[in-house]
Amino acid sequence: MDRARCAAWDATDPLGRARDAVLLPDGVIYLDGNSLGPLHATVAARLRQVIEVEWGQGLITSWNPSTRGPGWVGLPARVAAKLAPWVGADADEIAVADSTSVDLFKALAAARQLRPGRGVLLTDDANFPTDRYVAEGLADLIGDLEVRVVPTDEVASHLDDQVAVLTLTHVDYRTGARNDAAALTRAAHDVGAVTVWDLSHSTGALAVDLHAWDADLAVGCTYKYLDGGPGAPAFLYLARRWHEVASTPLRGWFGHDRPFAFDPTYVPATGAARFLGGTPPVLSLSALDAALDLRAGISPLDAEAKARTLTSLFIDLVDATLGGQVEVVTPREPAARGAQVSLRHPQAAAVMSALISRGVIGDHRPPDLLRFGFSPLIVRAVDVHDAVEVIADVLATDAWDTPEHRAPRTVT
Ligand SMILES: *Cc1c(COP(=O)(O)O)cnc(C)c1O
Repeated sequence: MDRARCAAWDATDPLGRARDAVLLPDGVIYLDGNSLGPLHATVAARLRQVIEVEWGQGLITSWNPSTRGPGWVGLPARVAAKLAPWVGADADEIAVADSTSVDLFKALAAARQLRPGRGVLLTDDANFPTDRYVAEGLADLIGDLEVRVVPTDEVASHLDDQVAVLTLTHVDYRTGARNDAAALTRAAHDVGAVTVWDLSHSTGALAVDLHAWDADLAVGCTYKYLDGGPGAPAFLYLARRWHEVASTPLRGWFGHDRPFAFDPTYVPATGAARFLGGTPPVLSLSALDAALDLRAGISPLDAEAKARTLTSLFIDLVDATLGGQVEVVTPREPAARGAQVSLRHPQAAAVMSALISRGVIGDHRPPDLLRFGFSPLIVRAVDVHDAVEVIADVLATDAWDTPEHRAPRTVT
């Protein structure tokens, strides 16, 4: 597609209206929404309201679930209800709290307890580092669990009756390759294991459908494609069939059935809400709440369809213009990838530094990957077109080959 056709496509894009309110610096093409979603004007306005009015004026009364005040006490549940459709879940199957790392700890511990007597937690060697750290920390703590790490394409063949838990990330953070979550969940269930999916790189960009997958537990990030803001609280999914039996090792009072009864005895809240820990982070939850409001009326299927269009366009333009200077490592079959495309180049760090200095913001993962995220609510077809032109120019002119761009970068 040439630029005019890209612009024509954007003009008819039903998701385009969300893009209009993104607050990006002038001249920036932001292709890193898979790492940190950008700020939307309505989110900034909501934060100002929460700080100056709800906190500044309302003070302690803002916690109260009254009809007049903001009712911060109910905020985690309200956010869970808005997030649930984005992962194919019901509202009471979602707890919004803590970081993905902490939620994963809770989910793995709960999953392991559902399968006592089995000694293996299975994961793959492509998993995000924090996921492995958390699994190994849990195994050290409880003592009778081996974390078995295998190549991604060997996961299915390592499923046996010793596996208590299979935990994988839906979309690989490096390559953008997508696991067949429904098939792997079925294979895990066939040997009696339970699954914990990490949806960090798919929520908000793909039509994740936990019910259709028959998933058990899942966790995910909200500051990536959901644009919830830096450090926004993560979420934990607990399938309804486990609501009566799953328990969390981190029993906070907000996960109690009646937090304000100040009961000396712990009684878990019904459903996923038992995975809430302590006092919710109202500022960041409010930002996430406002970010989710931008998605009202948008279907996850439409988001995935747009992600597919943008990633396909990018790959086509890369093939047409960069001819052999980079390798597309992301699967070319759209159903086998997420909303990102990674390109291999031996000087990836320097190339990305040069791109950022020219306003094309993606990121770099060692040793040799350039990562570009195509967040469906914030990226337009013209952005894809223009970004490839800049990449082509940076490569054609060796603009990356300067001391400034070759110096080690410390951030992202
Ligand atoms: C981004 C990401 C995380 C982030 O975890 P935090 O606790 O929020 O730092 C975890 N897992 C995966 C797969 C991710 O992509």
